[in-house]
Amino acid sequence: GNSVLWIRNDFRFHDNTALISAINDIKDNENLIFIYHLDPELIKIETTSYAYFFSSLNSYYESCLKKGLDIYFLYGEILTCFDTLLNEFSNIDKIYYNIIECGYGKSQEQKLNRFLKRKNVEVFSFYDHHLHSANKVLKEDNSHYKVFTHYYNKWMGSKKPEEQNIDYAKLSEIILSDFSKKDPIGKEKFIELRNLLNNDFSMFIGEENARECLADFMNAKLCSYNENREYPFLDGTSHLSHYLTTGQLSVREVFNAATMMPSSLGKEIFIKELAWRDFYNMIYYFHPNQHNEEIIEKYRCINWEYDEGNFIKWKSGLTGFPIIDAAMRQLSEEGWMHNRLRMITASFLIKDLLIDWRLGEKYFSEMLIDYDIASNIGGWQWAASVGTDAVPYFRIFNPITQSKKYDPEGKFIKRYVKELEDIPTQYIHEPFKFKKQLEENYGIDIKKLYVSPIVDHKTQRQKALEMFNI
Ligand code: FAD
Repeated sequence: GNSVLWIRNDFRFHDNTALISAINDIKDNENLIFIYHLDPELIKIETTSYAYFFSSLNSYYESCLKKGLDIYFLYGEILTCFDTLLNEFSNIDKIYYNIIECGYGKSQEQKLNRFLKRKNVEVFSFYDHHLHSANKVLKEDNSHYKVFTHYYNKWMGSKKPEEQNIDYAKLSEIILSDFSKKDPIGKEKFIELRNLLNNDFSMFIGEENARECLADFMNAKLCSYNENREYPFLDGTSHLSHYLTTGQLSVREVFNAATMMPSSLGKEIFIKELAWRDFYNMIYYFHPNQHNEEIIEKYRCINWEYDEGNFIKWKSGLTGFPIIDAAMRQLSEEGWMHNRLRMITASFLIKDLLIDWRLGEKYFSEMLIDYDIASNIGGWQWAASVGTDAVPYFRIFNPITQSKKYDPEGKFIKRYVKELEDIPTQYIHEPFKFKKQLEENYGIDIKKLYVSPIVDHKTQRQKALEMFNI
């Protein structure tokens, strides 16, 4: 019979576990059909995160075409689509895919598995997206870790799966690419969506760019990562997150590349970040309601405030806090934000504007090119002090102190908040406080230049402490 490879968030050839297993299993005279299911529930081409995801799919499709391979696209409700697939191609008896362990991906998968069983199609599914799947790194009594450091120690000591090379010669022999006589609805939808794309991500897309980015980071930045990663004005982090979330890069390849580098604190901390990625996936797996629900029970009844005007100002980078505004503008311009700034802006929304973390989580989910549901919820629940191993509620970030510490010369601020370009460094973090000096010594009327702070940090901090004191 023939086999199907269900492509999901794994847009690559190298070390793609499901793909390589399919190739190894296939016998002479059998074919492999690449399919992609366009799910109407997930398509939101107007958001940056989906536009990036879709562009990655498109880039993968183009690299398939270059190899003489085609993808069969399905569009619609999942079971209807797979039913059509089985009718269109006779003789399908095996399906290969990489597992999505949580959320919607998981529930779709479970539904499909039941259906395929009824149709006598054998399912071969693989853990591929993380170094360790959620169930792999557990305590001695098989319960899951709640504290990252303990998880990390066990994680470090666990053997990582091997990176596998693909046999391209065999691939081109077995793949079925002639879909000319088949139902074209999925392909039409794909092309329609592609025509709607108006972002150009070509610099940050594809297996080749991903690998170049990885090599660049390893050679030039890894050894100083421990220090430089703290500062948004430096380009000290790997920028691999969007390649990892879309599977354009294998996390095993990233791990191996780091492992082969000489010892350094940078290397150690970088590998620890990969463990955070697994940790949050594991937490979400064991807390499937985490999307809506705080892990810490007593914080499920916090009375959040909601001021629409403030929420819009936060999103548009018009809060009057230069570091917050610079960060939020980076997010809307680039679809990416430095980790330190994700923490500061999240904390600001929650503990200065007293707005429900779920709204911030949702906004990030639409804006980030590296949007990953588990890491995003994990990050937001961390900042909101309501998750596992989160920042304690009384340790509230002061946006001015953070700004001075992590952008001491205001370089990052000036890059994104152009109206503050000419403000002397000593006033850049809170220009309104120095209104008089700016006017007298520099002839600058800050009121004309920039928005005044929308809240007073001290007052809001007090309110936040009261809200959490339950
Ligand atoms: P590097 O510093 O080079 O880290 C290397 C890799 O490790 C990253 O690519 C990422 O895969 C992983 N990683 C690093 N930090 C974390 C972390 N704290 N949690 C999980 N994985 C991590 N990361 C996402 O990938 N998707 C998200 O949607 C996301 N949302 C976040 C929301 C908030 C509020 C916060 C505080 C953090 C969020 N993060 C998210 C984690 C982190 O900010 C990004 O992974 C990182 O900034 C990506 O840049 P980089 O690849 O240069 O990171």
